[in-house]
Amino acid sequence: MTDRVLEVETSSPDRTREVGRRLARLLRPGDVVVLSGDLGAGKTTFAQGIGAGLGVRGDVTSPTFVISRVHPSLVGGPPLVHVDAYRLRGGAELDDLDLAETLDHAVTVVEWGDGLADSLSADRLRVHLRRLVAPGQLALADEPRILTVQAFGSRWDGVRFAESLRS
Ligand code: ADP
Ligand code: MG
Repeated sequence: MTDRVLEVETSSPDRTREVGRRLARLLRPGDVVVLSGDLGAGKTTFAQGIGAGLGVRGDVTSPTFVISRVHPSLVGGPPLVHVDAYRLRGGAELDDLDLAETLDHAVTVVEWGDGLADSLSADRLRVHLRRLVAPGQLALADEPRILTVQAFGSRWDGVRFAESLRS
């Protein structure tokens, strides 16, 4: 049975990274993962887990100046293209990044990609991260997060997210 939507709760940044690592095992060249959620929700933390799971070079961070960064694989797999679209205002600017050039052979992960990156691929995963406390409330080092994984397109038919992502 296919599960198109899955909610996973994590209790710490390491647990969030672990879910990203598990997701990476399902990812293939051409896949697009759109990460949404407020500032500080854990999008970059989750992307770090994907990077670790893919075995790519370099730290996955929130780049100050660079919007898109390519992390080559150290294990003969697809590179990770990590995009932080926070500073982008519209789809036109996302087009300027030429993500389509790398799309087919890379795994593309776009933070703040909701609405922006949806046009990149009809087959995509959306992972929404949210804190359980009110926005603006003092952040703790270890806090629960709810991750909602949603699959779009036939690429994910038959993929068992619950089995793969939950420990
Ligand atoms: P974003 O990219 O969404 O702005 P970051 O991943 O950069 O968010 O930051 C998330 C912050 O929240 C980090 O400081 C991280 O240590 C902290 N944090 C606390 N609990 C969690 C959790 N369960 N999952 C992810 N991050 C968490
Ligand atoms: Mg970020």
